[in-house]
Amino acid sequence: MSESRDFAHGRVELVQGDLVEQQVDAIVNAANSSLLGGGGVDGAIHRAAGGTLLAECQQLPVDGQGRRCPTGECRVTGAGNLQARYVIHAVGPVYNHGSAEQSAALLRQVHLNVLQAAAQHDCQSVAFPAISTGAYRFPIDEAAAIALTAVRDYLALPSSVTLVRFVLFSADRYQAFAQALSAIPALELE
Ligand code: ADP
Repeated sequence: MSESRDFAHGRVELVQGDLVEQQVDAIVNAANSSLLGGGGVDGAIHRAAGGTLLAECQQLPVDGQGRRCPTGECRVTGAGNLQARYVIHAVGPVYNHGSAEQSAALLRQVHLNVLQAAAQHDCQSVAFPAISTGAYRFPIDEAAAIALTAVRDYLALPSSVTLVRFVLFSADRYQAFAQALSAIPALELE
């Protein structure tokens, strides 16, 4: 299953499948702040990439709280055995019902930060998982709207990034993204 929509300076594609198999310039990892691997998509990426990915992550500086990457930010490494040039490790928010607005703002920010990092590394194509929608429990419909709106807004201006693919593991997550993609209003051109 796949579909796409063109925005001002690039295309968004939705694919049902496995993120680690994507042939793109950068694969985005839904990581945790330690950047030392974990379950879900993080585990799948590290297994497929091989030990050099973990070794590269271990080289990244750690702050006083043991974090290599705070929530909302991202870090770029090579991609080991993956068919990509880079892995962009992005730390999405753990969904918090009590502060849903802050969770939403952080989820938007992490997508914008990833796209900016991809452009700084001259990437043309970037593949995202549905960040925060697994262990971090972000409601899928809301997460899809936030992620896709952030990408639409990023693509309002030109950069090296012209293809943004969301790779959804299951049919229901794919449908949530497809619904959100068709519902997003186009930005009015000035
Ligand atoms: P988070 O901790 O950010 O919630 P998870 O890895 O637990 O990250 O889940 C994020 C999303 O990635 C979930 O929707 C999950 O179904 C999906 N996912 C897990 N493995 C893969 C994979 N190999 N390819 C694409 N998506 C995946």
